[in-house]
Amino acid sequence: MSDFSLGLRCRVCGKLYPKEPINFCKDDFGPLELDYDYEAIAKNISRAKIESRPRNMWRYRELLPLEGEPTVGTQVGGTPLVKADRLAEALGLKKVWVKNDAVNYPTLSFKDRVVAVALSKAREFGFKTVGCASTGNLANSVAANAAAAGLETYILVPADLERSKILGTSIYGAKVIGVHGTYDEVNRLCTQVAFKYNWGFVNINLRPFYAEGSKTFGFEIAEDLGWRFPQHVVSPMAGGALIGKIHKAFTELHRIGLVSQPNQTRMYGAQATGCNPIADCVKSGRERHKPIKKPNTICKSLAIGDPADGYFAAKLIRETGGWAEDVTDEEIIEGMSLLARTEGIFAETAGGTTVAVTKKLVEQGRIPRDEEVVICITGNGLKTQDALFDAIERPVEIKPTLADFEPLLAGELVTSQS
Ligand SMILES: *Cc1c(COP(=O)(O)O)cnc(C)c1O
Ligand SMILES: [Zn+2]
Repeated sequence: MSDFSLGLRCRVCGKLYPKEPINFCKDDFGPLELDYDYEAIAKNISRAKIESRPRNMWRYRELLPLEGEPTVGTQVGGTPLVKADRLAEALGLKKVWVKNDAVNYPTLSFKDRVVAVALSKAREFGFKTVGCASTGNLANSVAANAAAAGLETYILVPADLERSKILGTSIYGAKVIGVHGTYDEVNRLCTQVAFKYNWGFVNINLRPFYAEGSKTFGFEIAEDLGWRFPQHVVSPMAGGALIGKIHKAFTELHRIGLVSQPNQTRMYGAQATGCNPIADCVKSGRERHKPIKKPNTICKSLAIGDPADGYFAAKLIRETGGWAEDVTDEEIIEGMSLLARTEGIFAETAGGTTVAVTKKLVEQGRIPRDEEVVICITGNGLKTQDALFDAIERPVEIKPTLADFEPLLAGELVTSQS
C-alpha cells in the first residue's frame, strides 16, 4: 500500500512539516493537519474498488495517513446508517438518519476510529508505550486496542469520571491514573509526559494522525446515502475535531471525484449547557471561544472546557451556514430516552445531547422540517448509566401470579408507557 499523505500542514500559516509525532507549528503554535496528494488518490481509487473491500473504516485507506497496512483496529468502523422514521416524526422532520457508532467495534464509540489510525501510526513510528488524556471513551478505546497490539499503556483521566468508563479501561490492563482536576488540566499534564518520556499519546503528539480517523465516519455516511451528502449534519463537539473531519471527508470525496455534488452540507454542533465553549462562541458571534473553567454536566464525554479545535469548529459552523446549540442535563436525558423509545438505540449522554440539540434547532426554525438530517451518535448508553439511575422509572414489581399481573393491564399501574 502506498502512502498518499504529503506531510503535516499548519492550519494557521500553511507551513508543511514532515510526518512526525508533532501536533503544533513551531512558528505560531497552530495545529497541524495531514495533507494529501489528492490527484494521485483520484487516479488510484474508485467507488467499485472501495465497495469491493470489507465493510470497515480501512476501505478508505488511501485517504488515511499510514505507510503500510493497518496493524491496530483492523475491524473498526462500518457501523449502520439507520433511517430513523419514528425519530423523524417525533422531531417534526421528514427525513432523518442516525449514524450509529454506539455499536462501533471494539469499545462502542467512534473513538475506535481515531485510535485505530493513531496506534497503527504509533507502531510505524516505533513507540512501545502509548497513552492518552481522556474524558472516557478514548480511554476505553486506547486501552482495548493497545492491549490487542501488545503496547504498554498509560491513561490519564479526570478522577470523577463515570465508574463504567474507568472500569472499561482498567480491565484491559492499562495503567489508569485518576487526576484531581479538569480535562484541560489532565491534558496539560499529558503533554508534559508525552514529550518528556517520548511516549505516543494519541490525542497529543499523535493528534494529527488520530483526528484523520474521524473522517471515516463521514465517508461512511456519504457512501451509505448512495455516494451523496445530506443537507444537514448534527454532530456532538468535545475538542471540536469530529465535526470538522466529517466535513473534510465530504470535501475530499468531491475533490477526488467519488461524489460529483459539491459539499454544501450545513454543519451543526451540539454541546451540554454545563460545558458549551464552542456553542457559546457561535451563538455570541465571538471569533474565539471563552474557555469554561469548571465544566458541570452529566455529559462528561463532551466536557472539554478549552477545546483544541474550538476555533476551527466555530468557523466551520459559520461558514457552512449551520449553527450550534447547547442543552441542559434534563434535556440530555430526554434526548437519550427519545432516541431509545423511537429507534431502539441506547446512546450515551453525548447522543442525548445531539438529539436534544437537533430538536431545539428544528423548533428554532434553523433546520427546515422538509430537509435531510443526519444525527451523529458517537457512544453507547451502557457506559453512562450513572446519569440515568435517578431519572428512569423502575419497573413495577409483582408476585408470580396472574392475579397480580392482570390489574396491571387495566392501566393504572403501568408506569413506563409513553
Ligand atoms: C470524544 C467524543 C466526541 C467528540 O469528539 P471531538 O472530536 O473531540 O469533538 C463526541 N462523542 C463522544 C461520545 C466522544 O467520546
Ligand atoms: Zn504555522
